[in-house]
Amino acid sequence: MNAEEFRKFAHEAVDAAVDYMENINDRPVRPAVEPNYLRDLLPQQPPAKPENFQTVIDDFNHVIMPGMTHWHSGKFCAYYPTGFSYPSLLGEIYTAMLATNGFNWLNGPAITELEYLTMEWMAKMLGLDAAYYSGDGRGIIQGSASEAVFMTIVAAKNRTIKALQAKDPSVDPWEAATKLIVYASDQTHSCTEKAAKIMGLRFRALPTDDTCVLKAETLRQAVDEDQAQGLVPFFVTATFGTTSTASIDDIPGIVDTARHFGIWSHIDAAYAGSALVCPEFRSLAGGINGADSFNVNLHKWLLVHFDCTCLYVKDKQALKDAIAITPSYQQYKELISGAVENLCDYQISLGRRFRALKVWFTIRSYGISGMQKFIRGHIDLITHFKSQVEADGRFEIMNKVQFNLICIRIKPEYCQIAAASPAADPTALANLTNSRLVDLINASGVFLIKSDLHGKVIIRVVIGSFKSDMLSTDFIWSVIKRCTDEVLAPTICTTTASTTNEAG
Ligand SMILES: *Cc1c(COP(=O)(O)O)cnc(C)c1O
Repeated sequence: MNAEEFRKFAHEAVDAAVDYMENINDRPVRPAVEPNYLRDLLPQQPPAKPENFQTVIDDFNHVIMPGMTHWHSGKFCAYYPTGFSYPSLLGEIYTAMLATNGFNWLNGPAITELEYLTMEWMAKMLGLDAAYYSGDGRGIIQGSASEAVFMTIVAAKNRTIKALQAKDPSVDPWEAATKLIVYASDQTHSCTEKAAKIMGLRFRALPTDDTCVLKAETLRQAVDEDQAQGLVPFFVTATFGTTSTASIDDIPGIVDTARHFGIWSHIDAAYAGSALVCPEFRSLAGGINGADSFNVNLHKWLLVHFDCTCLYVKDKQALKDAIAITPSYQQYKELISGAVENLCDYQISLGRRFRALKVWFTIRSYGISGMQKFIRGHIDLITHFKSQVEADGRFEIMNKVQFNLICIRIKPEYCQIAAASPAADPTALANLTNSRLVDLINASGVFLIKSDLHGKVIIRVVIGSFKSDMLSTDFIWSVIKRCTDEVLAPTICTTTASTTNEAG
């Protein structure tokens, strides 16, 4: 492809991007394809000769697009959203244009310096203390929350072992590592356990209360028990907005308890942290400034394209001490003088993309007020949705709706009424009926997922797509309502009930 061909196709790509996004709600949210659909449609051998790019784009339209799920559609209420905005997309284009590798300051001073600035801006927008980004602290972009949590565990492990050695110089670091234990709750995102697995460390999931909240007292008990066994508790993740129900752990209590025992406390605010750009959410976030580290994914609910997790650590040296290796080819006078840092010393990979550019474009284009408006728009929609759920009467709301996630299920008594004969196990019947409802909804033009709340099937509805609006929200509700009518229709539930009775 020569430069003029690129210009032509790039202009067309921009038109395609706008047309795609502006009409996304008209598409089916999920593709109608079966596993391995793609194999039959494309050649098994790579092309021996250069192909005309127009044929490649034609295949993109005819083969790839039909296999896509449309995350920014207002009919997408699964998981948590992933970020999109036009300025962020422009950031991706300009980043791709520069095609740099910013692993050190020398490789493009603006890459490092804009990252410092945007991370500082974000911290200020979220209400984070300066200790997270200035002095000994550092805000840095990671590829994902999982990487951010992994890096903080690496730092905490190193700091803990050093402290043990300071007390007793005979401590063997490899031996000491076998006693370390990481904590999170049974509602914490799997990334904490995954990080512990990768590092070969012990992990313990602590039980939450019936509102999915990890209490400080539970942590304290676990620490007592494990210390009595000769283990060394050293890291705890507290979540601000869990994945299943968006619950918030007892962060002030956990942070205090962790400090008391010399445990590193990390706040995983991957999803809900974005809401903190609105001051009205700050009262939910008590204690976050007392922790050792904090992460939020701008690439979920704050208009920035994947990948963009902000990690803030108060003791940046702990992280660098743990992993920094500076070979001679990475030495240069600004580094040696201490005037700059190599950002590769804060992450797994050496190479890094210029991700701060899309953050900077997005913050400047939206301003604080625009970002607040985006979050509040979704809060208005979920409030509207919730009032319809309440008015219907057949549903139970299973979480505290603090953000834009609502978890619902058909009340067990409606499942019983619909059943021809009462089921022996009402919970099992309710689970079966609600699982059926999820399948039916997903076959009817909305995409959502179920989850498990202490043995109960719950249906998660997240209203947070770039193209969520009143129309799409009403569509979601109309589909749920119609599918509920169908699931509770006596003929269907007779089968449901008898199946359950046989099983029970
Ligand atoms: C989404 C999510 C994660 C994982 O995010 P990645 O960036 O994909 O690693 C971790 N924690 C919470 C609370 C999340 O919502």
